[in-house]
Amino acid sequence: MRAVVEVNLKAIANNIALIKNATSAEILAVVKADAYGHGLIPIAKCAIQSGATWLGVALLEEAFTLRESGVTTPLIAWLTPPSADFKAAIDSNIDLSIPSLRHLELVVAAGKAVGKTPRVHIEVDTGMSRGGLLGEWQEFLIAIKGADVEVIGFWSHFARADEPDEIANEKQLQEFEAKLTELREQGINPKYVHFANSAAILTNQTSHNDIIRLGISMYGLSPDVKTLGSSESLNLEPAMTLKAEVHLVKRVPAGSPVGYGGTQKTSRDTKLAIITMGYSDGIPRNTTSAAGVFIAGAKAPIIGRVSMDQFVVDLGPDSDAKIGDIAEIFGPLGYSIDDWAQAAGTINYEMVTRIATRVPRIYA
Ligand SMILES: *Cc1c(COP(=O)(O)O)cnc(C)c1O
Repeated sequence: MRAVVEVNLKAIANNIALIKNATSAEILAVVKADAYGHGLIPIAKCAIQSGATWLGVALLEEAFTLRESGVTTPLIAWLTPPSADFKAAIDSNIDLSIPSLRHLELVVAAGKAVGKTPRVHIEVDTGMSRGGLLGEWQEFLIAIKGADVEVIGFWSHFARADEPDEIANEKQLQEFEAKLTELREQGINPKYVHFANSAAILTNQTSHNDIIRLGISMYGLSPDVKTLGSSESLNLEPAMTLKAEVHLVKRVPAGSPVGYGGTQKTSRDTKLAIITMGYSDGIPRNTTSAAGVFIAGAKAPIIGRVSMDQFVVDLGPDSDAKIGDIAEIFGPLGYSIDDWAQAAGTINYEMVTRIATRVPRIYA
């Protein structure tokens, strides 16, 4: 085993149960980006077994993979540029998001072509200036009235839900309500209204509506460690553990430069271990010695720059670590995903999604 991602499905199930107990909304499990790096199909199936009644992905390709593997749960794809295969999506019973008039036209045409009414969720931009209808709204209200689509949902997305006291959240909710009222005045009454991501799920009960879109917290991670607290404080259990094999262990004298550029030198006579993962596997190149691995019962910090396929850790002079040992890179024993994110100047979302597909996923 060169390197492996271990995914604890029980943790996923527990995290969903925790969220489910605290809401009356239906749960949409967000499984985009290969289920945040945890593996699309196993996570989707686990989420459904754990009570999720919806699935959400960004891309149609992801949605097709789910349908091809026999998943029949209601499923939304929300990032579908005009070139997306809307006909195949409608054929495969995939709900489509409508963020523009152009999308509405394309989806209506695709529905006609396949002889089936498309199921759609109208997306409104309520203050993030990213996805959703904004300037075209009034025109859209007219166009949607006669359009041959089934309006299943109405939705938006928070920009700053990880700052619960931020007034921008309240403004987004007000804008959302106003637009929903205008839509209803046209006689269109979507059955499912949805807005909340993990941060809003955890902090803002009034944003839950009919469906909550649960992403990072399903995987056991805090949407923002600084403002909302750690996984532990939120009673969430991180599902992903990353491990790799020790390629070499060697003794080096004090003052030895380590890695490309010799950016760090050993501060004493010590032992180093060479770990068989690098930036091509998703280990951030700029990770500092604030992260490292857990090996032979102790933490060993990174020393020097991360290379493409390997990095080096300082074991200390007395470590019992041996060539061929398995090092935990992040997991329950040593450094957490959040420790790594901080040491690399990024967020836990990026840490888990960037682990390359060349690293196998195994499930327990
Ligand atoms: C990714 C995503 C989510 C999930 O966000 P988390 O912060 O991971 O819970 C919800 N809704 C949309 C539209 C998304 O793209």
